Amino acid sequence: MSGLFTDAAKRLAKAMVYAMVSEESIERLKTPKESLIVRIPVRMDNGELRTFQGYRVRYDDTRGPTKGGIRFHPQVNLDEVQSLAFWMTFKCAVLNLPFGGGKGGVAVDPKQLSRFELERLSRGYIDAIASFIGPDKDIAAPDVYTNAMIMGWMMDQYNTIVRGLNPGVITGKPLSMGGSLGRETATAFGSFFTMQTILPKLGYAPEKTTVAIQGFGNAGSILASRLFEAGYKVVAVSDSQGGIYDANGLKISCILREKEASHALKSVYCPGSVRQTVDHPQLLTPEMTKPQLITNEELLTLDVDILIPAALENQITEKNAAAIQAKVIFEVANGPITSDADDILDRKGILVVPDILTNAGGVTVSYFEWVQNRAGYYWSLEEVNQKLESRMIAETEQVWKIAQEKKISLRTAAYVYALTRIGEAMDARGTKSYFLGANR
Ligand code: GLU
Repeated sequence: MSGLFTDAAKRLAKAMVYAMVSEESIERLKTPKESLIVRIPVRMDNGELRTFQGYRVRYDDTRGPTKGGIRFHPQVNLDEVQSLAFWMTFKCAVLNLPFGGGKGGVAVDPKQLSRFELERLSRGYIDAIASFIGPDKDIAAPDVYTNAMIMGWMMDQYNTIVRGLNPGVITGKPLSMGGSLGRETATAFGSFFTMQTILPKLGYAPEKTTVAIQGFGNAGSILASRLFEAGYKVVAVSDSQGGIYDANGLKISCILREKEASHALKSVYCPGSVRQTVDHPQLLTPEMTKPQLITNEELLTLDVDILIPAALENQITEKNAAAIQAKVIFEVANGPITSDADDILDRKGILVVPDILTNAGGVTVSYFEWVQNRAGYYWSLEEVNQKLESRMIAETEQVWKIAQEKKISLRTAAYVYALTRIGEAMDARGTKSYFLGANR
């Protein structure tokens, strides 16, 4: 395995030095428990048969069933899915969820598929991986370019195969199919609670804080509007088509309305881009200036207080890290910063709040959904949001404390915290010193 995973594993090597865990635990965590590559044949609307490659990796299940999303994206490959499953392992441990880490994906550009083809692909993927997953074994969820409706099709398909009713095999489902209130907003709200915990410690008040957000999907768009409502000055946003910038601040509520207006149906990929809103400048800024069109690369190096990469991995690398001007980066995407870039940012005094903490709100409410499915008893939105908030704040405080005490980065602190929990669960099954130790 090369590339992304090799880089991801470097974070583990750094944390090892500070965590009190046995060498055996580290040894176990070096490789995934199980990886599956499958072929998914799909009959296209024009009668042709196309095959897609799908993946599911169960990285580690020491603390419970593996848990993680499913991504539909042209770049999906085994290296990426394995890295994402590795990150899920640590993310679940940081939040103390009784889960290990997993991830899945299909290499496809879903925007090129019709709704019928998308449904057939979703069901075909589950046909291919059904024996690998299960409500007590490996629980899937949405990720990049998958949504509640797709999760619903997948749950259906799983249940058809096993001839049962297992809503807990997948989270992020539509509400009417056993989904949880608050799951749609969970990743963004979780990031917001982490920001609200950390930013006051650094002396940032919302009205005086400028923010740039790369990515306007489920996490990026909802976080942008939550920050806007809280009084932050969101000066730049972008999506896969590019971005817009206005030093006076953008009116996020209007951008969202504009994007939603071009949504034909909620389940289908949005054809609009944040860039189109430039045609309606009066909607965007109080001062009625026209936002500037910028590229995704330009957004990353803007002179802002807070930078939020909320799109894909590998966005800040050794190539552009030196040009970053933000003071604090909250990683809402998984893996947006490479380990080389980490070092450069660190030398520049830029604080990075890591993905395995910042974006853990999504899987936290996925856990709540799974609990509700098992109990058959559903919570109010207030209960979900309140439980999410208290968990995010408590675990963010713990990571902050470890970083302060050990004088390490927040990323290494989050890994140390997670590693300690995973290591304890591994060592509870016996270690070399137990088996060869005191009693012999
Ligand atoms: N895909 C999300 C993540 O990367 C959510 C995973 C889940 O809910 O299981 O954290």
